[in-house]
Amino acid sequence: MKKLNFLTAGIPLRAGNKGYEEGFKILDDMNLDGLELEFVRGVRISDKSREAVSASEKVITAHAPFYVNLNAREEDKLAASVERIIETAETANSLGGFSITFHAGFYLGQAPDLVYDNIKSKIKVITETLEKNGNKIWIRPETTGKATQWGDLDEIVRLSKEFKTVLPCVDFSHLHARYNGISNTYDEFCAIFDKIGNELGNIALENFHAHIAGIEYGAKGEKKHLNLEESDFNYKDLLKAFKNFGIKGAVVCESPNIEDDAKLLKDYYMSL
Ligand SMILES: [Zn+2]
Repeated sequence: MKKLNFLTAGIPLRAGNKGYEEGFKILDDMNLDGLELEFVRGVRISDKSREAVSASEKVITAHAPFYVNLNAREEDKLAASVERIIETAETANSLGGFSITFHAGFYLGQAPDLVYDNIKSKIKVITETLEKNGNKIWIRPETTGKATQWGDLDEIVRLSKEFKTVLPCVDFSHLHARYNGISNTYDEFCAIFDKIGNELGNIALENFHAHIAGIEYGAKGEKKHLNLEESDFNYKDLLKAFKNFGIKGAVVCESPNIEDDAKLLKDYYMSL
C-alpha cells in the first residue's frame, strides 16, 4: 500500500440504515479511507451493496464470521469454519478487497503446539483452495483478546512465515487486554513492529492490517470495546510508532463510535 489508511469497522453509524452508498459519502466527508466489511454473523451482502462497494475507490477489508474454530473437534464444525473463511476471502476479493481477518480458533484446553498444528493444517486447505481460484488476497488470523483463544503474536507470526498469503492482523487492543494491561507503551509497540519486520520482512510492514479500539479488560482478558477516550489504551504512542516505522496498510477502528474514533486516530496520526 502507498500509505497508512484509516477505516471504520463496518458502515459508519451516521449512515443509519441507508447502507454502503451513504456510508462511503460519510467516509468522504470525514476524510476517512475505507471500511471493513463486517461479515461477523455470516457472509451476506446484497447486490445493491456489492455494487456500491465495487464502485468505491476506498480501501476495503473484511472480517469473517465469529463462528469459526479451526481447532474444533467435530468434522462438520471444522468444514464450516474453513468454508466461512474461504467465502469471506472470495467475496472480499471479488469486491476489490485488500485483506481479510478472522479469529482462528480456541485452545479447548489442548497443548498449544497441537492446536498450532491443527490450525496450520486448515490454513493450508484455505490457502490452497484460494490459490487454485487465483485469489491472492491477504489471509490474516487476528491477535485475540483472551488467553482461551488461539492467537498471540508469536503464534500468528510463526504461522505467517509458513504461507505466502498469510500475514498477521494485529489487534493492538486485544494484545493489551489479553495479558491484563501490557502492550501499552511506545517501546512495547515498537517491539511488535520490530518483531514483524524482522521475522516477516518489509512486505508485512508495508501491507499492515491492524485493529484499534478502546477496550475494557480484566484478569481473563477482553471484556468489551470502549471509545478510545473512555479507555486507558495508549493510542497516541501507538500512532507515533506507526509513523516512525513508516507502516503502510489499513488501520481499522473498532470502537463503538466507529467513525468518530477512526477520525480521532487519523487526525492525530496526520498531526505527527
Ligand atoms: Zn476481530
